[in-house]
Amino acid sequence: MSGIFGVVSKKDCVTDLFHGTDYHSHMGAERAGLVVLSDRFKQEIHRIGSEQFRGKFVHTLSELKGNQGIGVITGVRESQPLIVGSKMGNFAIVLLGMITNADEVAKMLQENGHVFSEMSDGKINSVEVAAKIIAQGKDYVTGINDLFDQIKGSASVLILDQNGTIYAGRDKYGRTPLAIGVRDDSIAVASETCAFANLGYNTVKFLQPGEIDVISKDGFSVVKEGNPDNLQVCAFLWIYTSFPASCVDGIDVELVRERCGRALARRDDVDADYASGVPDSGVGHGLGYAAEKGIPFRRPLVKYTPSYGRSYTPVSQQERDYIARMKLIAIEDIIKNQRIVICEDSIVRGTQLKNETVKKLWGANAKELHIRPACPPLMFPCVYLSSTRSINELAARRAIFALEGRNIDDVSEYIDHNSTKYQQMVEWIRNDLGVTTLRYQLLDDMVEAIGLPKDRVCLYCWRGY
Ligand code: SF4
Repeated sequence: MSGIFGVVSKKDCVTDLFHGTDYHSHMGAERAGLVVLSDRFKQEIHRIGSEQFRGKFVHTLSELKGNQGIGVITGVRESQPLIVGSKMGNFAIVLLGMITNADEVAKMLQENGHVFSEMSDGKINSVEVAAKIIAQGKDYVTGINDLFDQIKGSASVLILDQNGTIYAGRDKYGRTPLAIGVRDDSIAVASETCAFANLGYNTVKFLQPGEIDVISKDGFSVVKEGNPDNLQVCAFLWIYTSFPASCVDGIDVELVRERCGRALARRDDVDADYASGVPDSGVGHGLGYAAEKGIPFRRPLVKYTPSYGRSYTPVSQQERDYIARMKLIAIEDIIKNQRIVICEDSIVRGTQLKNETVKKLWGANAKELHIRPACPPLMFPCVYLSSTRSINELAARRAIFALEGRNIDDVSEYIDHNSTKYQQMVEWIRNDLGVTTLRYQLLDDMVEAIGLPKDRVCLYCWRGY
């Protein structure tokens, strides 16, 4: 995943750009970059794998000056922002999404004489592919629209042109949000609205799928209408990836998590001493569960926040496992002899839950452990935003492989929560995790907690369409 931020201001924008981009740090831990425009573009790009955004950028911040800028934090290795030349003039670009046919599109462009700079791993930078498509348009709006039409996967972009205008385009199917925030002297655009609050911006709108807006010092306006009927916004944003203080398409992330927890509790008959949530994203779900059941919410595991980020964002499994091991610390006196409900945002591979969370809780002499994931079993890796998981890594797929003795294509019976196969799969995962009980959220309960019509959210992870 990635997070993008842009700002046009009547005064120097660098402080806002720095903090606004930094508030997307939960969306990636691989690369980050900023571009500002004064008399020319000035760009900074750093790897943030070993040091967080703030630490990397704070030292060189004084070298950046300008009233307009765009920034990105990403979980992939592709460098951005890029600055490219075109017949419209020079422009800077940041991309949020995943272009799954980037090689195919690049090949077509190469056949028409375009040249691409190869990355060190031999792959093509999909941000460059996006920039080349846009540069071919008769203007930026046509170019961004061409990008939406030509790519598979998803793409939201911010373009900063050499006149200081930002073009903000939300993905054709709105898989990720883009919001505009306004302050008396500045206009900002962000994929996570948590970037606005402490900088004094008010969220005034969310772009529709496929919508393109221009932002200049004179204000902002729609230059290409979007189509709300195309909305397929990622359900996982509310369940896990977005920051709790963010709002996606007008729906608060933390409130959805609380509703998810309440829905889990309503279907649950287990007796527990208290409920909790695996930090950070499980906390909202746990609070909702505890409130609905009328039992305490407690913290048997706390996260060492000063230096450990999310285990989702680092690219390598080794790094993810290392962070998972180091960041959670058990509080023995809160765990010993207790029957504990643990709300978790989801079970992806299940290895961290098993090897870290569960192991630490049993190690501190918990009496019972009841795991309650806030979404159904993940059956398919994301094909729109993130390529970090393979299908056979998923806990549900490992269970199916064990039960069937082979990989199978048609998993519809395992998706149906009323089927015997679903019960067998859940029991296999429960046994593998080594917990007292395991009950997943039902898909319809999750969608109801989000509050959008079912055909307006992407549910591919759970049902394959
Ligand atoms: S496939 Fe999953 S993670 Fe990807 S956009 Fe759809 S719901 Fe989100």
